[in-house]
Parts: sequence; C-alpha cells; structure tokens
Amino acid sequence: MAEKLKIISLGGLNEIGKNLTVYEYGGDMIIVDVGMGFPDDDMYGIDVVIPDFSYLIKNKDRIRGIFLTHGHEDHIGSLPYLLRDVNVPIYATRMTAGLVKLKLEEHRLVSKTKLITCEAGETVKAGKFSVEFIHVNHSIADACGFAIKCAVGTVIHTGDFKIDPTPIQGGMIDLGRLGQLGKEGVLALLADSTNVERPGFTKSERSVGDSFDALFRGCEQRIIVTTFASNVDRIQQIIDVAARYGRKVAVTGRSMENAMKVSTELGYMKIPDGVLVDLAHIKSLPKNKICIITTGSQGETMSALTRMAFNTHRQVDIQAGDRVILSASAIPGNENAIGSVINELYRKDAEVVNERDRALHVSGHACQEELKIIHALVKPKFFIPVHGEQRMLKTHAKLAQQMGMPPKNIIISDIGKVIELTANSAKINGTVPAGRVFVDGYGVGDVGSVVLRDRKHLAEDGMIVVVVSMSGEDGSVVSGPDIITRGFVYVKESEGLMEELRKVAVNALENCQRDSLTDWAAIKSEIKNAISSFLYKKTKRNPMILPVIMEV
Ligand SMILES: [Zn+2]
Ligand SMILES: [Zn+2]
Repeated sequence: MAEKLKIISLGGLNEIGKNLTVYEYGGDMIIVDVGMGFPDDDMYGIDVVIPDFSYLIKNKDRIRGIFLTHGHEDHIGSLPYLLRDVNVPIYATRMTAGLVKLKLEEHRLVSKTKLITCEAGETVKAGKFSVEFIHVNHSIADACGFAIKCAVGTVIHTGDFKIDPTPIQGGMIDLGRLGQLGKEGVLALLADSTNVERPGFTKSERSVGDSFDALFRGCEQRIIVTTFASNVDRIQQIIDVAARYGRKVAVTGRSMENAMKVSTELGYMKIPDGVLVDLAHIKSLPKNKICIITTGSQGETMSALTRMAFNTHRQVDIQAGDRVILSASAIPGNENAIGSVINELYRKDAEVVNERDRALHVSGHACQEELKIIHALVKPKFFIPVHGEQRMLKTHAKLAQQMGMPPKNIIISDIGKVIELTANSAKINGTVPAGRVFVDGYGVGDVGSVVLRDRKHLAEDGMIVVVVSMSGEDGSVVSGPDIITRGFVYVKESEGLMEELRKVAVNALENCQRDSLTDWAAIKSEIKNAISSFLYKKTKRNPMILPVIMEV
C-alpha cells in the first residue's frame, strides 16, 4: 500500500494562536510554524501558552526542518521552547529570521541553532519533502505561504495572508505562482480563516496613509501614534507622513524598538536622515515638530502608551491637546484594557482619534472575496480550513462549498487529529497528544490544571490558615489554634469573626479529643470541615482552608 501523507495541527485550530502544523510522509516530518498563544483571563500567573510538543520530542529524529511563514508571535513565539528539545534547521525569510534571531538571543540559543534565510521563490529540500516559499501580503513584511510537495501530491499552506495590490513594499502576493501550481494540480489547501466572516476585500495597507496625512496636515499639536510593533509598513507610513510635515520621530516601547531595528538593518524600513530623534530630546522641540510612535495599541499594562497615560512613563506624560492616534483594532478580549487607557487619555484632555473616526487600521487577513480568489486559483482536491475558531472554520468550509467543493472533500480537524491523505482520499484517522502547556516564569509545563484551579480559588476567595501546636506524646493541644488569613477579610476590622473562627477550631479539636482521634490527617480534615461549614453559613464565602499541625 502506498505511503500516506499525514497532516497534524498541534495548535491553531479552534483557536487563534499557537499555530503549529506537522507534515509527515515516508518517515520524514517537517513543521510549519511554532507559535504561542496568550493566556485567558482566568489563567492566573501564566505568561504564555505553548503547544504540547510531546509528539515532536518523541519523533525528533525524524524532523527534517522547521519552516516559518512569518514573524508574528502566534507563528514563532514558542520556538525557543521547542528548540530546547528539538534541534533542527529553521528556514525563514530574512525579516522572519531577523525576529527569530532576537528571540534566540534572549533565550541564549543562537550558537546552537541553525537558522537559514530563504527568499520567496526558493525551494528547500527537507527529507522526502520539498518546500517552496511563495510571497504573500500580510500585516508584517516578508510573509510567505508554502507549496509543500511529496510523492502523494502538493499541499498549499497559505499562512496568514491577504491580497494587497498596493502594498508599501515587497510587491503583491504571488497569485501567478499559486495559479500555476493550481494548474499543475494541488492535492490540498490549508488556508487562513481569520476574516472569513467578513464580506468583500480587506483594504490595502496604503489606504491608511491617507488618514495619517489628513491628521498630520495643519496639526499644531504633539502627535502620538500607537500601532502593532511588528507592522513595519504601518510604521514606515507614519514616519513618512511625519517627515513630510517636518516632524521629528521618537520611538518608545521595547518591542517596537526591536522590530524597527531589525527592519531597518535588513532594509525593510527606510528612515529619512535626521528624522529619528531620541525620546530624551523631544522636550527641546516645539509641539508641532514632534511625533512619538509607541507600543500599547492593545492597552497592555506595561506598554509605553499606558504608562504615558497613567503618568508612569519616565520621559513622556500625556498633555492637554496631544493628538493620540490609535492605528489598530482591538484584538478580542483587550477591549476593556484599551477602554481604560482611552478614558485616561480623555481625562488628560488629549484628543483621541481611533478607528471609529477614520480608516486608521486595515487587517492583515483575507476577507471572503480574497479567499475565493485563492480557492479558485489553487483548485485543491481537498480543503482544510485553519487559523480560526470553530465558527470561522465552519464558515470557511461553507465558502468552499459555495465554490463547488463537495462537502466530503472538506476536513475540519482539531488539534492532535491526524489527517491522512492519499492521491484521492482524505480522512481523519487517529490522534496524537496535543493541548496547552503553560509557561510561568522559567517553568514550562509545571503549572497544570490543578495548580490553576488552586490559583483561581485563592484569587476569588482568599485563604485561611489554622495553626495548632500539638504534643507528639499525647496529642494534647500545646498552643493555638491561631488563625491567619490572606485575601479573605481585612483582619483588623474583623477581629470578631477571627475570634469566632478560633472558637470553631477549638471546638473541632475538642471533638477530636473526645472521639480519641489521633490521626493528624483526620484531625486536619475535622478542622477544615468545621471552619468551612461555619464560614459558608455565616458569610456565603468559600476560602481555601489550610490546617497546619506542628508537633512539639
Ligand atoms: Zn500573522
Ligand atoms: Zn497568525
């Protein structure tokens, strides 16, 4: 029987984030993207969420390479965590490689990692696979899709993309090549589903430039613009318009400074001489000669814009009359954080201009009509929607059906599911381990659902510690019980309740003695139950209760 091509997503399905797709054929594996996700609000203390790598670690000797579509965190963010266990060559375009290198430096992985830069149009051999880089448009420079070939057939993996006929740099997506591959015959298409619910076309990045021009022209105030740090073309447009109206540009926010450093070094951004100034020097300039570009478009707590708004930025405070331009849309879940920054800007009498007032942001993802063009050009036999929540995957499936694809040729998968393809069949067959691994500080995977449940409990109800010293000889109470609480009530104003709790604990201990209970675990559970039911009756609260017995 002929070998099958297997496609397994370890992230990026039924979620936006931590994209990672494995292709497997004839004993060889390649990986497309190694992204990370961000924690939900109730994942207390979790910094980032990464895919479960156990399947990759188990098969690390078969992995022939990692291919990266572009430099967004949801596509490269968990690379450092995978590279700890799996050391294989990474292939990426120059901009993506530049951003990956920053990450590797941060994690001290540069010397042991083989990072190979490729150009759109180039084809890389990786075991029994060959992977061709195809230029696409997106909200970051140098993004690519892939044509992945093996003996079973060709798979087009679009990566994140849009069709932008007038991009700022890099040229339009290579539709010609996609059409050519479509004519040669494409077995399967894996395409970006992010914007599948939006009709029409995504506007060109260039359209934002006109809005900037209108906001800079004749403006006598200081201008502060925030956008996504990685959107090089957007930042380029802001710099160009600032230069056009004689403003100097200062940049604040580490991620933005990093992205600008990489993109200017590699030639993706061109800053006219003398335009860039250090933030420390803007005080000496008149207001109508200043433009500050800053991070914080999502209301991130530690970002430069948030700090400016709340007066905790070391160099810049928001002043009355400042024109603050938010050149970004809210990523779902960030609305409240952004809202509180905007309120603070209003409190300082700044003028806030956002998407509602003008076209200040365009998406980096294809809308319905663009997706249809790709489907029409690629003409795949099978279609696998990716990069989306269930709703988007299903909507994308419907779009493919509208274009004539039989429903049985569309596969909506989930992370960990194995899609098996032959030249004329596609089906889900089996699963591999997949899920979410939590990163907290240096710890990877040591915080699981049990720890998170405790953190949630502590966060919502606080805790009570009951400390008793007992004699090791006869089990009599030597001192205590003492009650210590955190996050439960303010003790100084609740002395009565504390005393009642102490009495409940004393009672419980007396009951234990009367029943000749000597097992300490049993005594602890007795104390816990007594306090818990007393508190629930009295306060309708349910704090975590930790009885501690000290042997003396
Ligand atoms: Zn992206
Ligand atoms: Zn993405």
